[in-house]
Amino acid sequence: MTAAVPLVRTCSIWRALEVVGDTPVLLIAEALWQGARRFTGIARTTGLPRAVVAQRLQRLEAHGLVRRLPEGPEGGCTGYRFARKGVETYPLALMALRWERLWGAPAAGGPQLVHRGCGQAILPLPACSACHGPLDARDVDFRPGPGLGWMPATYSRRRSPVAAQPAGGQLAGAAARILGDRWAMLVLRSLFTGTSRFGGIRAETGMATNVLSDRLAALVARGLIAPAGPKTPGSRYRLTEAGFDFYPVVLALMDWGDRWYAADDGPPVILTHRPCGHDMRLSVLCPACGAPLAPDATLLRA
Ligand SMILES: [Zn+2]
Ligand SMILES: [Zn+2]
Repeated sequence: MTAAVPLVRTCSIWRALEVVGDTPVLLIAEALWQGARRFTGIARTTGLPRAVVAQRLQRLEAHGLVRRLPEGPEGGCTGYRFARKGVETYPLALMALRWERLWGAPAAGGPQLVHRGCGQAILPLPACSACHGPLDARDVDFRPGPGLGWMPATYSRRRSPVAAQPAGGQLAGAAARILGDRWAMLVLRSLFTGTSRFGGIRAETGMATNVLSDRLAALVARGLIAPAGPKTPGSRYRLTEAGFDFYPVVLALMDWGDRWYAADDGPPVILTHRPCGHDMRLSVLCPACGAPLAPDATLLRA
């Protein structure tokens, strides 16, 4: 007998995670943002086994995020670059980098992010698209959008799981490991939308009990969540400061998902910024000059 597949809320985050909710994919994207183009350079920067790099590049190409560069005079693939869909993950990369700088492992004199427009070393600022005020997860209300629906909780299987943690990912390694774990991201999605009980999260995500317990423990260990009260069958969890600060990463993912995967009738969720009262999306700004950070607006300086 096969168990009925549970229904879960549709959400752009879910769909986006099918593509980018994978640590090797995120490490490859980070390498591309750092200017790696050739296969060997990408493999070296990410520290991933070559077979994993090849398989993930193939997947990124199939999903339209990455394009092969034209063949060189001697034939063969000369490298890879982002297609438009990949370029639009830029806010996600900036928000992951920001979180890493604030909450990840302290980088030993890592490179500085510089805004080309004003030349200042910056930490990108997540802001409300309507009022450009700084964004705090606790200031955002949400309501169902026209594209909200229910879908079966089926998950595509990963063809080559990565058992060992790759050595790469120097810029946003810890953030990439959280973002790359779809289960952990779905737990965070529940907490950000006010579901804090074990049973509620399980119902929303369709996760098996043991998988959910495991991810909750992992998020506690990473410092993003903490138990709220005694450990009982109805255990509750709350976001920590590091957890609340992961919200812009989730929003960047949702925004990208809305852009590329939302249903024709519109986004599944609409956000309102309480301080200004307007519907909003995530804007990423330069904190020094206030300009929006368009793709390629920044460079890394050693
Ligand atoms: Zn606002
Ligand atoms: Zn600037």
